[in-house]
Amino acid sequence: MTVYLVGAGPGDPGLLTRRGAEVLGKADVVVYDRLIDRSLLSLAPPGAVLIDAGKRPAGDPEGGSGPARQADINAQLVAHGRSGATVVRLKGGDPFLFGRGGEEAEALSQAGVGWEVVPGVTSALAVPAAAGIPVTQRGVATSVTVVTGQVGDEPGPGGVDWESLARANGTLVILMGMATRGEIARRLMAGGRPAHEPVAVVEWGTTARQRVARSTLGQLESVRLGSPAVIVVGAVASLGLSSLDPRPLQGRSVVVTRAPAQATMLSRALATAGAHVIELPVIDIADVPEERASLQRAADSVADYQWLAFTSVNAVERFVPLVHDLRSLATTRLAAVGRATASALAAHQLPADLVPTRSNAEGLVDELPPADDGGRVLFVKAAGAGETLRAGLAAKGWEVDEVVAYRTVDGPSPRAEVAATVADADVVTFASASAVAAYLRLRDSAGRALPVPPVVACIGSSTSVAARAAGLSVAVEPSLATMEALVVAIAAHLGDLPGLSRTSAGS
Ligand code: SAH
Repeated sequence: MTVYLVGAGPGDPGLLTRRGAEVLGKADVVVYDRLIDRSLLSLAPPGAVLIDAGKRPAGDPEGGSGPARQADINAQLVAHGRSGATVVRLKGGDPFLFGRGGEEAEALSQAGVGWEVVPGVTSALAVPAAAGIPVTQRGVATSVTVVTGQVGDEPGPGGVDWESLARANGTLVILMGMATRGEIARRLMAGGRPAHEPVAVVEWGTTARQRVARSTLGQLESVRLGSPAVIVVGAVASLGLSSLDPRPLQGRSVVVTRAPAQATMLSRALATAGAHVIELPVIDIADVPEERASLQRAADSVADYQWLAFTSVNAVERFVPLVHDLRSLATTRLAAVGRATASALAAHQLPADLVPTRSNAEGLVDELPPADDGGRVLFVKAAGAGETLRAGLAAKGWEVDEVVAYRTVDGPSPRAEVAATVADADVVTFASASAVAAYLRLRDSAGRALPVPPVVACIGSSTSVAARAAGLSVAVEPSLATMEALVVAIAAHLGDLPGLSRTSAGS
């Protein structure tokens, strides 16, 4: 029996440690804090019990984090730990920095429950960094002190000796200090810090909602940002290092709706561009048992066809391994609807002979040459695929055989906690018409429809057509139907929308 005290990082889900992700992946119970990014909860196994420890108990006007509340959490951790369950206590930043993780560890030890701490990336360092502020810098600041603006349960910066902190002339990083910032500033100035000392306030750092205000100690009280925020006091607070190659999707959050096996490529491309990715696999790919025999027969007779046509990576992945001897394809040519499908073929050492300029069924029909006498095409498709390809090729004189390699099914109902994060996302991406339909059909675990973010991005024209027919307004469609082009088109679209910029706020 172990309770893992896991640091979730400062907000950006990419800043959870690998160890943290690993223990979340085997949790039976997850007790999570208010500030953690809810999309991390999708790393827990589907059956895991999720407990929101940040929720204010009914009838508790104080809400929050009073001693009674902490005692409740401790008791809950002990009880679940004793039951033999694998428990993850998921806390913002690092669990042992102002997170009361130390108290939880003590309570577990006293109860004889085993625990392990999984350190996290603390907001005290990562949030200033996200705003381009190094907390120490040669020649500018040689020390940094992390201090709380709120001691115990009394409101006010009591306990802390602000006057001595003022005299130690390094950087101060203040957590939980927004409510008391006026008083903190006055006491630091009383201790000798000048009113013109630079201050930076970073709200919701590392997340898509990040806002930064630059000010001075004398003006700190009038900075118009709220919690959670980190206050940086000292010369470094006037620095705003920014990368020369800013990531175009920095600060944006994008929903990926592809099936789990395929989400990776798009998610990686988006994350590389700086986006916060929410994976919401609304579809999955399944076998069609009743078609298995005819699929195998087709795979055994590929040599009888002049062309094989593939309109998806899935079709390639499910068909090619059934061909016992790839040499039987020596005289058969291969058509792939787009670059991704062609790459899937290439991964089996099968270069595509045709990839049409327009990545859709019409493009394939246009560019496939007309049939010689008795020419035969095998179309490896998804259950329920449209008639365009078959009809178009038949009109060009081909005898077309179709086999079903897979079918698309709805993904599992997303957890309400994860679905709720979609409400704040900037963009939703669709890579197929079936994903659009499933997205609109699916309900989360609380029975609610999935929110549709303001920008709808579709990989190609048939997906866009389906989205528009379903009443969505499609803002992004790359001219090339590839994942890379989709990411570039999203960045270009958002770059044209200054109103959505969230990286800075005045003070
Ligand atoms: N254990 C946490 C800190 C918990 S105290 C850690 O290591 O980061 C909570 C305080 O952390 C908040 O009041 C705020 O001051 C700060 N904080 C946490 N996440 C933040 C974020 N994303 N942006 C700004 N401040 C944050």
